[in-house]
Amino acid sequence: MNFITSRKEALDVMENYIENDLPIYTAQRNFDLGPQNRKNISCLSPYISHRLISEYEVTKKALSKYPYQKVEKFIQEIFWRIYWKGWLELRPKVWTDFIEDLKNIENSNEYEIAIKGETNIDCFNDWVKELKENNYLHNHTRMWFASIWIFTLKLPWQKGAEFFLRELYDGDAASNTLSWRWVAGIQTKGKNYIAQNWNINKFTNNRYKDLKLNENPQPIIDHREYKISPISIDNNEKKSDILVFFENELAFQILNIDSYKKIYCILLTNEERQVELGDKVLIYKKKIIKNQVQNSDLEIEFIAGNKFIELSNNEKSFDVVYPSIGENMSFLKRVVKKNNLIINYLTRDEDKYCWQFSNKGYFNFKSNIPKILSQFKLN
Ligand SMILES: Cc1cc2nc3c(=O)[nH]c(=O)nc-3n(C[C@H](O)[C@H](O)[C@H](O)COP(=O)(O)OP(=O)(O)OC[C@H]3O[C@@H](n4cnc5c(N)ncnc54)[C@H](O)[C@@H]3O)c2cc1C
Repeated sequence: MNFITSRKEALDVMENYIENDLPIYTAQRNFDLGPQNRKNISCLSPYISHRLISEYEVTKKALSKYPYQKVEKFIQEIFWRIYWKGWLELRPKVWTDFIEDLKNIENSNEYEIAIKGETNIDCFNDWVKELKENNYLHNHTRMWFASIWIFTLKLPWQKGAEFFLRELYDGDAASNTLSWRWVAGIQTKGKNYIAQNWNINKFTNNRYKDLKLNENPQPIIDHREYKISPISIDNNEKKSDILVFFENELAFQILNIDSYKKIYCILLTNEERQVELGDKVLIYKKKIIKNQVQNSDLEIEFIAGNKFIELSNNEKSFDVVYPSIGENMSFLKRVVKKNNLIINYLTRDEDKYCWQFSNKGYFNFKSNIPKILSQFKLN
């Protein structure tokens, strides 16, 4: 699999997919036919998760070509991502608890065997290799992988979520953490996702048979309750002469940013992260940032987190493109506290509007999709 690194190429991939392959999505999206055969899904996630292209652009493009009913499933999957993001925004402690949990879990021998792909489960070992080679896994495979990790290998879900974040090009705090919690049976309490031999067999086109899986596990129990906290984001008005954005919000062209004196794009190094990323993932991120910076008419300086800390010893007020709950936001909060900064967040109107519907389950969120589509003229 070959993931591209510029917005222009990402737009081409999106248009090509929507034009030619989207019609088979609903019927065939659940099949993992292997890394060489991915026409049944879009493989847009590395671009969407860095916001080289946005969820809203993809939705608009799909609906400009097909009636809603024909691409409903695809649109709903895109809105899963928006829903998860909003869900975590409203309950940020789920992210910080995940990070705290990780600090208290030792790397066991069984864990080392799993991440080397040396278990006695063939499909799992193949997926570990595939993940490390392609930095991507099919959605159904991510579900089977997480289920086998938690219920057959009996490893902590947090270490699996960490492993995915380290290796995936599309690694995302909300989609990843909440999907792992969902498989474990914590997100929807008491409902775990169970990977079954027949299901893997069917949806891999008989590539794997006679797997010895735990097909009768109990859900993981976690008694922590998370109350909704209000999202406090300002009015998108410029307040500083300095603008900062991170690598997960790269389509900065859509924001009105040409009046800033200085613009910085931050990519955190592993020393500045709570979850370290694999070398390939960091290199991928560097490449897409460099392309975006080069292809912009604006003068943008590409810096690591420590340079921002240095800057903020003198400058105290920054406009920041809202980085969402996750690694970048946690870093920013640490610096704000240390150096007493005033941050004015710039957020997309679409995000702000959608996140209000993440207060309950996805079923409720989904019922608001028509309202969202018409509010932002996406259909
Ligand atoms: C355990 C687990 C971990 C995951 N971790 C991540 C992650 O770190 N980052 C990430 O972007 N997705 C994650 N997902 C969701 C999903 O697997 C990927 O978004 C999807 O496989 C990407 O492939 P695609 O672009 O071909 O998706 P398509 O099926 O073509 O869907 C189009 C777009 O919709 C969004 N999307 C599709 N399915 C989902 C979903 N179930 N949840 C959220 N968004 C979705 C993605 O942005 C995707 O690019 C995870 C799922 C599981 C079960």
